Amino acid sequence: MICNNLSSVNGVLHFNGRDTLSLAKEFGTPLYLMDEDRIRRNCRTYRTAMVESFGENALPLYAGKACCFTALIRIIKEEGLGLDVVSSGEIATAVKAEFPMEHAYFHSNNKTDADIAYAIDCGIGYFVADNEEEVAAVDRIAGEKGIRQKILLRLTPGIDPHTYAAVATGKVDSKFGSAIETGQAAQITEFTLSKTNIDLAGYHCHVGSQVFDSDVFLRSSDIMLEFIAEMRDRFGYTAKILDLGGGFGVRYVESDPALDVSASIARIAASVKGKCKALNLPLPAIRMEPGRSIVADAGLTLYTAGTVKKIPGYKNYVSVDGGMADNPRFALYGSSYTVLNAGKLNEMSDFECSVVGRCCESGDIIQENVKLPSSVCRGDIIAVCTTGAYNYSMASNYNRIPRPPVVMISDGGNTATVAVRRETPEDVLKLDV
Ligand SMILES: *Cc1c(COP(=O)(O)O)cnc(C)c1O
Repeated sequence: MICNNLSSVNGVLHFNGRDTLSLAKEFGTPLYLMDEDRIRRNCRTYRTAMVESFGENALPLYAGKACCFTALIRIIKEEGLGLDVVSSGEIATAVKAEFPMEHAYFHSNNKTDADIAYAIDCGIGYFVADNEEEVAAVDRIAGEKGIRQKILLRLTPGIDPHTYAAVATGKVDSKFGSAIETGQAAQITEFTLSKTNIDLAGYHCHVGSQVFDSDVFLRSSDIMLEFIAEMRDRFGYTAKILDLGGGFGVRYVESDPALDVSASIARIAASVKGKCKALNLPLPAIRMEPGRSIVADAGLTLYTAGTVKKIPGYKNYVSVDGGMADNPRFALYGSSYTVLNAGKLNEMSDFECSVVGRCCESGDIIQENVKLPSSVCRGDIIAVCTTGAYNYSMASNYNRIPRPPVVMISDGGNTATVAVRRETPEDVLKLDV
C-alpha cells in the first residue's frame, strides 16, 4: 500500500482502521476521508525535527491552502504549529478555530486593502509582503489603525528550475516576491526600513512544490543568508526570522520516493548553521511551511463506480460519481494518483482503464492507465489515495455539482466525525437571486 494508514482486510480496503465500504455506505459518495492521527503525526514530525535541528525558536507553519476547514485548523493549533493563510476566507477560518493569530502569516502576491485591514483587525502576526506596493499599503493601513505591523519580505532567490525540476516559484521571473539578482530585494529592504508603521522581522522564500531533493533548500538558504549578511553590511539591519518556505514532496504512487522529513531538516539545519558561522550571523528563527506533506497522505477519496465503457482496440473507461470538481489535479497538472477498487483488493488488477469523472469535459480525468480488476462494475467503491492536499481546497461546484463532505477518522478508527457536511442542491442554489 502507498501509505501505512491503508490496509487490506479480506480484500477490503481499510483506512486508519476503518472499513471503507462501510464508510461509503454510512456517509455516501463521493466522500473525502481524513485521518486525524496521521495529520497529528505529520505535525509532530516537523515540530520535533525543527526544534531539535534549529532550536526552540524554530516553528513549522502549516500552509493552509493545502486544505483548510475549521476542524483541521483546530488540530494545527493543538499541535502547536503556526499557520500560513492566503485570503480573508482562510483568516476567517483560523479565527473560527480560535487559532492564536500572532502565529499566523499572511501570504499572497496581491492583497487588497480590504484583506489588509481585515487581517490587521484579526490580529495577524505577520504579513509576508510580496512587493513595494503592498508594503506601502500595509504601512498606510497600519498607521490608520495606530499599530506597528510585523512583516517578512518575500524574496526570489533565483534558483534555476532547469537544474531542479518541479521547482517553479523561486526564479527571478516569478510573479511572487522580489528578486535578489535584480537588486529589487535590496531596494524593497531599504524602502521597508524607512516605513514608520512597519517592523521588518525578516525574509521569506518558497522555491516550489513536490521537492524531494533537499539540495534545493541548501541552495536557497545559502542565497538567503548571504543576502541577510549583505543587508547587515549595507543597512545595519539583521533579519531575526528566515522562512524557507514549503514544498516537501509526497508519495502519490509506488515510483515516488518516500522522503525522510527529519533527516532532510537535519541536513538543512547543518548547512544553515555552517553558513551563519561563516558569515558571522546569529542563527535566525527558522520557519518552514509544509502544506502538502502535512495532509496529503492523511486523505482518501471514495467514489461509486458508474458506467464501465469498453471501446475495443482503443481504451476503457470507468466513470465515477465525482471528478474534476472534487479533484482537479490531474486536469490541472497531470498529477499521479494510486487508484484502488476498495472491495476487490484480492482480485487480480489487469483491466487497464482511465478513471474519469461525471463532468461535461473530456479533461475530467482522475487518472489514466489505471489497473483495476476486470470485474469492476457499477456500484463498486473506487478509492483514490493521498488526496488530503489540494483536493477539498481546490473543489468547485462546476456543473453545479454539490461538494462532498469531509469525514475525520480519529483515534485509530474508533470515531468517524463529519468535519464539513455534504453540500446540498439547496446550498448550490442559495446565492441565486
Ligand atoms: C504553496 C505554498 C506552501 C506549501 O507548499 P507545499 O508544497 O504544499 O508544502 C508554502 N509556502 C508558500 C508561500 C506557498 O505558496
